[in-house]
Amino acid sequence: MNSITIETNTNQYDVHIGEKIRHKLPSFLPKEYQTIMIVTDSSVADLYLEDVKTAFEEDQSVFTSIVPAGEASKSKDVYFDLITECIQRQLDRHSLIIALGGGVVGDLAGFVAATYMRGIDYVQVPTTILAHDSSVGGKVAINHPEGKNLIGSFYPPEAVIYDVETLYTLPEQEVRSGYAEVVKHGLISDEAYYESVLAQGGIHKLSNSILTEHLLKGIQVKADIVEKDEKENGIRQYLNFGHTLGHALEAELGYGRITHGEAVAIGMLFAMKVSEFVFGNTLPINKLHDWLKKNHYPMEFQDIDTVRLVNRMKIDKKSRNQRIQMVLLKKIGQLEVREVNDELLLEIANDFFR
Ligand code: NAD
Ligand code: ZN
Repeated sequence: MNSITIETNTNQYDVHIGEKIRHKLPSFLPKEYQTIMIVTDSSVADLYLEDVKTAFEEDQSVFTSIVPAGEASKSKDVYFDLITECIQRQLDRHSLIIALGGGVVGDLAGFVAATYMRGIDYVQVPTTILAHDSSVGGKVAINHPEGKNLIGSFYPPEAVIYDVETLYTLPEQEVRSGYAEVVKHGLISDEAYYESVLAQGGIHKLSNSILTEHLLKGIQVKADIVEKDEKENGIRQYLNFGHTLGHALEAELGYGRITHGEAVAIGMLFAMKVSEFVFGNTLPINKLHDWLKKNHYPMEFQDIDTVRLVNRMKIDKKSRNQRIQMVLLKKIGQLEVREVNDELLLEIANDFFR
């Protein structure tokens, strides 16, 4: 088992990664809790809820709440129902919420924990590869019909308990989605890590040790950034590499048609192209393109309306005064946030989606 400690100005917590550690979950909690509510989704419940529940003593009050699988559960209604359940189960400031699942459950249950009685303890028990990213850093949120993650908070967990064994039941599309963020963590940090990720031919059949190594490094990259800039005033923006176009593409195609990570993968290629225009550098775009193709990331898009796509990039949370701010790559591990003008983006997008 491996552990990483995350320490910011205001808090500290451990991320534990290992095999089968879901069965020993109570031993990773910072203290004993009388009342515990496990929040999970319908798919994860079938696979892992029993393992986690039975890890607790019989005399502890452990409740479960199962929400429908999928992004739609990050809604005000599901959020409010969970709060109601907390009240009915008499959770108080000495209780614990366990978020068992992917980024959806993590964001949702984390936001419940952040707001119920002005904040109670919670732990993240991620079960997706993508959640190596979402479970670390303390951002929790639900969606508003007007946009993703518009209602949220910075609220760090007491611990992250990551059982890699659970990742082997993920559908291939979710493996691709999560691995895009692993690639991102490589691109924004160091070449050796990035190359070691790309050196693995197929991400769908990785050994436990390689997967663990990639996730550990990814978490360390995120931890290093979050420790320096928890509230995203500066370098935390680098974590949005690939996300300006990624978010726009997700919205343009319709959520569900493409996963978050698959969209970010395309967004990273696009951001590399924009970087080459802005800095006049040469980046290994073809190599990433070939690797994505080999791993069956969706690469062909018909009839993309590039004008609408660029407009969507303007309303991204990270934009300022409708001007598009993009995280650009000078070279692997070296980034810069720049304002990029719409005409240039449209020109590159027209070529990119031809
Ligand atoms: P998700 O939680 O919806 O999980 C993807 C699918 O996989 C779901 O259908 C789920 O039921 C299923 N699943 C989960 N674990 C499984 C397992 N072990 N075996 C089989 N199936 C399993 O999606 P996600 O990709 O993990 O997370 C996406 C969410 O994360 C988005 O809402 C995004 O906004 C959020 N996010 C948050 C942050 C952050 O910093 N808070 C960062 C990135 C993404
Ligand atoms: Zn992302």
